[in-house]
Amino acid sequence: MLSLPPDTDVAILGAGLAGLSIASWLIDVIPPHASAPRVHLLEARQADTNDRTWCFWDQQPHPFRKAISHRWPRWQVRFGNQCVEREDAEHCYSLLSASAMRRSAYAAMATRPEFDFTRGVDVGTISPQDDGLHIATSQGGLTSKLVIDTRPPQAAMLSSHEGVWQVFHGVEVHCPDHGVSPSTACLMDFQTGFSGVNFVYLLPLDDHRLLAEWTCFHVDKTHPDCQRLLTQQVPPQLSDWLNKRLGTQWTLSRQETGCLPMMPVVAPQLNPRYLAAGIRGGWMRPATGYMFASCQRGAADVARQIQRASQTGRWELTPPRLRSSALEWMDKVFLQALRQSPEQAPGWFMQLFERTRAIEQRRFLGDEPRLSDLLAIMRGLPAGPFLKAAIRLARHS
Ligand SMILES: Cc1cc2nc3c(=O)[nH]c(=O)nc-3n(C[C@H](O)[C@H](O)[C@H](O)COP(=O)(O)OP(=O)(O)OC[C@H]3O[C@@H](n4cnc5c(N)ncnc54)[C@H](O)[C@@H]3O)c2cc1C
Repeated sequence: MLSLPPDTDVAILGAGLAGLSIASWLIDVIPPHASAPRVHLLEARQADTNDRTWCFWDQQPHPFRKAISHRWPRWQVRFGNQCVEREDAEHCYSLLSASAMRRSAYAAMATRPEFDFTRGVDVGTISPQDDGLHIATSQGGLTSKLVIDTRPPQAAMLSSHEGVWQVFHGVEVHCPDHGVSPSTACLMDFQTGFSGVNFVYLLPLDDHRLLAEWTCFHVDKTHPDCQRLLTQQVPPQLSDWLNKRLGTQWTLSRQETGCLPMMPVVAPQLNPRYLAAGIRGGWMRPATGYMFASCQRGAADVARQIQRASQTGRWELTPPRLRSSALEWMDKVFLQALRQSPEQAPGWFMQLFERTRAIEQRRFLGDEPRLSDLLAIMRGLPAGPFLKAAIRLARHS
């Protein structure tokens, strides 16, 4: 059995995107020769898997820039014969693999003796004590002055009646000559003949490799239909699509699957020493399922708060404010409209991408919109269904 220290200054529960982003930002904000708080990461998994890739518009500084493996200056959306394409060579749509992100974070942590990382620890309950929080784990307990909890949210924390589940299955395939333009990421290629919204996401990784994902939505993750989608329907649909597009010359090299809660999260609160972060803290954008950009802003904010706490001895954290009320409201209206009229969504997206500029799209989807971008997005969407959704939302709130 592993032995944990009896206490630490900061415990980070879960070493996924949020946990490792906070650790990496903390190393960035602590001056090299200054003393740092003792930080202990506790992770349930014994071993890492390259089980996901993060894509995002690379618009703001973050600790993983050097680990980005692919950049696409152009992005497009497609529906039948229609295609809308936009370009921004200065702020490319970018890909960071889970392996590269972890390598970067582990290398940074190895430079600071104050950072400790234990794998194979299942974290259980957290209870307040006089001088901190007690964390019960499968390897015994430890006490920490601050706890940052990035474990996945429990069902009760999700406002599932306000959103949908994004169900997707992706494959990285090798194909001698796929013929897809290497500089263009296809964000959505809408598919017809399936129930609800279905689209393929296609990223050319080089002349011989592609990442392709099939995405659809369901209102209830626990419903057997949703499980069937994930395991029995979406994977063969994607294979058929690849066969039609590439012929049978492709071979599978990696897969990724997800069922993401596109809905508001009510982050748990315990006391000011405890902070829920990552998806658990509501850091993922409900309307898109993107989290990377807001996660970096949240992680930077939390890292600065930890550094301040260790200097002042006031061990308290405040949840970072990641989105404006206007953006939160727009996301809620969008999700309501998607729940009400999913069959119309491909048309809305095509119209939106057609009527807005690259800069407005990347700032809005990249979670950093200005007021002018929000107005442009509103103007780009059809008024009728969104007004209906806004009214319904107002009635139920
Ligand atoms: C396949 C996939 C692809 C995605 N692609 C994108 C993308 O392109 N762009 C984007 O912005 N977002 C993407 N997302 C959404 C989101 O960014 C990721 O889900 C992200 O990993 C969420 O970060 P997190 O830290 O909240 O959770 P995670 O990264 O899942 O980290 C949580 C950690 O907690 C650990 N844990 C769980 N229970 C315990 C326990 N009891 N004790 C200790 N540790 C525990 C887990 O093992 C895990 O390591 C994707 C998600 C998936 C699943």
